[in-house]
Amino acid sequence: MHTPLCRHAKGTPVELAEHAVQVGLTEIGFSDHSPMLEDDFDNWRMKFSELGQYVQSVEEARRRFPGLAIKLALEVDFIPGHEKWIEQLARAHDWDYLIGSVHYLESWAIDSPFETEKWKQQDTFEVWSRYFDLLGQAASSGLFEIIAHPDLCKKFGHIPQQDCAPLYRRFLELASKHGVAIELNTAGLRKDCREIYPSLEFLKIARSLDVPITFGSDAHAPGEVGMNFGEAIALAKEAGYQSSLSFTAREATTRPL
Ligand code: ZN
Ligand code: FE
Repeated sequence: MHTPLCRHAKGTPVELAEHAVQVGLTEIGFSDHSPMLEDDFDNWRMKFSELGQYVQSVEEARRRFPGLAIKLALEVDFIPGHEKWIEQLARAHDWDYLIGSVHYLESWAIDSPFETEKWKQQDTFEVWSRYFDLLGQAASSGLFEIIAHPDLCKKFGHIPQQDCAPLYRRFLELASKHGVAIELNTAGLRKDCREIYPSLEFLKIARSLDVPITFGSDAHAPGEVGMNFGEAIALAKEAGYQSSLSFTAREATTRPL
């Protein structure tokens, strides 16, 4: 879940936690977009100077809702060359987990609604290939417990004609080898693609390679907390999954579905 510090989300951690309790969740996690080494890298994340405030706001929610397990985490953009910075962030607080995500191919944020023109200027399969290559590098980096919204490249509905299973497989073999989980993220249902990230086809390959899963609503507002989790669990079961992971202090625990 995200917080207002990322500049594109509504609701404080206390308000999000309150909603989580209302919808019957027993565990939630905050993984707001992490700061970049340079604060002006883009305009949709907290500044480095706000990191302490972020942690405090999550701790406040923990105090207010002692019966709800609240995890402290970050969603970190994997960008080659930023590894040292990510290691520095990892040491800054007692994170329960770090989610690695790929939004950027070089300087293009492929999921940005302000940069959709770029999708029309290049070959979709080529973009997807580059995206999954980078995702494989993120999985192999040893920096993350979980990889976020693994087929984010489908967000705006640009789907290649080609068979993409080899791209999924190449990434998932690396996730399996490095023991990294993937996230079932229901935000995809709220985007043009109208589908959970990742697709059933993707998830079946993940299952066959024993890649573990987690669940996320990627909530950017209280009303989105735990949204469509019923569908996400059904999708996981359809792919053959019987359990998911929960993380505390960067260690995994297996939970039956
Ligand atoms: Zn966001
Ligand atoms: Fe993301």
